[in-house]
Amino acid sequence: MKNRNYKTILLDLDGTLLDFNTSERKALLKTFQKYGYTLTDEIRKIYDRINKDLWQQYELGKIDRDTVIYSRFGLLFDEIGIEGDGIAFENDYQEILGMQHDLLEDALEIVQSLYERYDLYIVTNGVTATQLRRLKESTLDRFMKQIFVSEATGFQKPMKEYFNYCFRRIGNIDKARTIIIGDSLTSDMKGGNNAGITTCWYNPEEKPNHMDIVIDYEIRQLKDLYLIL
Ligand SMILES: [Mg+2]
Repeated sequence: MKNRNYKTILLDLDGTLLDFNTSERKALLKTFQKYGYTLTDEIRKIYDRINKDLWQQYELGKIDRDTVIYSRFGLLFDEIGIEGDGIAFENDYQEILGMQHDLLEDALEIVQSLYERYDLYIVTNGVTATQLRRLKESTLDRFMKQIFVSEATGFQKPMKEYFNYCFRRIGNIDKARTIIIGDSLTSDMKGGNNAGITTCWYNPEEKPNHMDIVIDYEIRQLKDLYLIL
């Protein structure tokens, strides 16, 4: 079902264009090394669980972003028995994470080609300074009309208010000709539903859609976008 009528494409960043898992792994390892701590697979798993839980509460609007990032390492250190300063550690981690920008396969080439025919925008939940730096260093920013980092908007995906904020700044938005592409069901696809736009789920791991979320398109690899757009 090809629809060449789209005008505006909202792109998620992490897990969609940038390989966040790789960047996160590298940044965690480097920050642990800086503090002289050992990052084992087990510790990494505990961190993943704590971090995921916190971001889920953030998506639900229960806690703010600062609470997510400034409590995750404190909670981790408590659980694994390290006497560490979670806040100082987080600040170092953010700085190191901001230096990682691992592009997913084909991402740059695809963005470059879409740029010729569509208006592209980044919609990302995260820390403004970190995300802007990664967009610049990956050279993705050159193809974006605007970048919307949740921290700077006061809202976050999947909130309707977040998308309203973006739409106001985009100006003259035609929702019928707008599509969001992202890897997260709970933030990108749910957000697309809340915003009343078309959704395209980038789902390389073939995860099930266990929620009541409308997916208009589902792709396994980014280049499948050429089949839709
Ligand atoms: Mg994502």
